[in-house]
This record gives sequence, C-alpha cells and structure tokens, in this order.
Amino acid sequence: MIKQFQLLKNLIDTNQNFVITTHVNPDADAIGSALAIAEFLIAKRKNIKIINHDNTPYYLSFLDNRNLIEKYEPEQHNKIILTTDVLIVVDLNNYQRTVSMSNILQKTTAIKVCIDHHEYPEHFANHELIYPAFSSTGEIIYKIFIDHFNEELSKSIAEKIYAAIMTDTGSFRFDRTTPETHLIVAALLKAGANPQYIYEQIYEQNNFSKTKLLGVALSNIELTQSKKIAYMTITQALLNRVGSDETEVDGFVNLCLTIRGVRIGVLFFELKDGFKISLRSRGKIAVNKIAAEFGGGGHMNAAGIRLYGKNLDDYKNLVLQRLESEINK
Ligand code: 5GP
Ligand code: MN
Repeated sequence: MIKQFQLLKNLIDTNQNFVITTHVNPDADAIGSALAIAEFLIAKRKNIKIINHDNTPYYLSFLDNRNLIEKYEPEQHNKIILTTDVLIVVDLNNYQRTVSMSNILQKTTAIKVCIDHHEYPEHFANHELIYPAFSSTGEIIYKIFIDHFNEELSKSIAEKIYAAIMTDTGSFRFDRTTPETHLIVAALLKAGANPQYIYEQIYEQNNFSKTKLLGVALSNIELTQSKKIAYMTITQALLNRVGSDETEVDGFVNLCLTIRGVRIGVLFFELKDGFKISLRSRGKIAVNKIAAEFGGGGHMNAAGIRLYGKNLDDYKNLVLQRLESEINK
C-alpha cells in the first residue's frame, strides 16, 4: 500500500495535466472523491479536468461549488483525454462503468491510475490503488492524501470526503465502517465538515416526484415464494407518470431489506435503452458473484447489473430464480 502511494506521489510530482473521471449514475462517493482529488491537485498548481459520462445529480451539485465537473462531449473532450499526462479513475474498476467514455479512455496513452474499493478489478490501469476492505473510495483518498502525503485538509475537501464516506457506509452502519473510518470522520469534522448540512443536502431535498415514485415503488413491492427476497420494479412508464427520472431511484432498493426475514433486496429498473438491476443482501450472501454471472458486479452485499440494448422482462425471472436458489442453499 505504502509503495503504491509513493508511486502515485511521484506521478503527481512529475506530471502537470490530469483528467479525472468516475462511473455512470455517479453517487456521492464518486463525485466527492473526484472533487477531493481535483482540489488537492489544483492546490499543487496542476491542470485538472473532471469529465464524466453523466451530469452530476442535483442533490450532489453542492459539492461541485467550483463547477469543475464537465459532462463528456466527444468533440470537446476527446483531444484532452488523448493528450493528458495522467488519467485518474475513481470508484470504478472497469471501463464499461464509464459507458460513452470507455472507448476514448482505452485509446489514451496517458498513465492510468485507478483508485477504488470494488472487488474483481479489470486491471486496465498502470497504477492500481484498489482496496476492497475500505468503506469507500473517499476513505482511500483520505489515507493517500492526508495520512500519507500530509496535504492540507481544507473544509471544502473535508466536506467532499465526508459526503463520500457517509453515503457509502449507509450513514456509518454498513459492515466496512471501522474504528479507522470514525477516526477519519472525526478529522473531517475538525476540519469543518458539517454533518447536518451535508446530510440535508443529500437526503432531505427530494423532489416531490421522487417521494411520489418511492410511494408507488413501495406499494408495489413483492416477495418471492421463500419470503426471503423482496423486489421492486420501476418502469419508464411509471417514471413518466410521476414526472421522475433515473437519478431519483438511488437508495430505494435498501428499503427492501427493512422487511423482517428478507435477506435479499432487488430493484428492477427499466432504463430508456436497457435496464439496471440493483441487488442488496445481508450476511454472507455474495450478490456480486450472482451479478457477475449476468455481466454485473459490485460488493458482496451491494451489487448491480446494467445491460444496454436488453429487455428487462427477459431477465427478471431468471435473476429471481437464481437468487431464490441461492437463498435455499
Ligand atoms: P447500485 O445498485 O447502487 O447502482 O450499485 C451497487 C454496487 O454495484 C455499486 O458498488 C456498483 O459499483 C456496483 N454495480 C452496479 N451496477 C454495476 C454493473 O453494471 N457492473 C458492475 N461491475 N458493477 C455494478
Ligand atoms: Mn464507492
């Protein structure tokens, strides 16, 4: 780990131009981590660009107070990506997670750095800082830049890392929340991160349409025969009916696990051009392995499958049957 950190330090010291990117449908860990690195690099007078496949969702836009994040446009960004010195990808470990950017990322001759906490990496980067034991990419960023490089922890950076850790730990309750996580969070608070403000920004400024959507999703929730799997289905027709969109579904699937006896929660989500399945589990049920069987991935207790150009109805029963067989093992 220390060796990897040192390699990254040398890379930063000896290069000037950096492009940072993260995954489709970015969450607070993705956005917070990308912005924290950007601010560290800006303080070192480096040229940075954050270019993402997606726009930043509205509830995370407070983190990008300097408007650093740009949505990927081939004409505008391809040259920059091809000619940058260093490409840093955060919170993902395979190119497909960048969707429209994956081709150009594979073509660039930039030195590639991957900073992430997911299992089963694709090994596309020259420098991998991938540590699945960590709660979040944000926590890894803290270990690298504050603990190891001894950079200054500004209030702005502390806020970004706090948002990353808070969301990826489910507000400090998931099992990779360690004593070390809390020590880091203590340092973030000392640097000025305000837990109430950050929580409110992320979780308590829902659009009315999101609350309506949640209502319908909850009222349509179903159990499988074993009653150990709860699943929700959200279609494009439903999104249109309540005036909602893809960015508003984040977090719904976790509610499946609040039902007594349920061990696996599933969200079947129809996209405009394909579908997404979110999986959550309790204990030793490794949903990332099952997701991988269908072309997805993720963590043991939180994984997903996103397939474009495919029909959700063709997969729904297959996935449910596979999960049901796992739970009856
Ligand atoms: P979510 O359900 O919140 O979108 O994703 C849960 C976890 O699964 C995240 O850690 C995410 O990285 C991972 N994940 C979701 N969809 C995919 C996918 O299509 N491929 C891979 N490899 N991982 C995914
Ligand atoms: Mn993450």
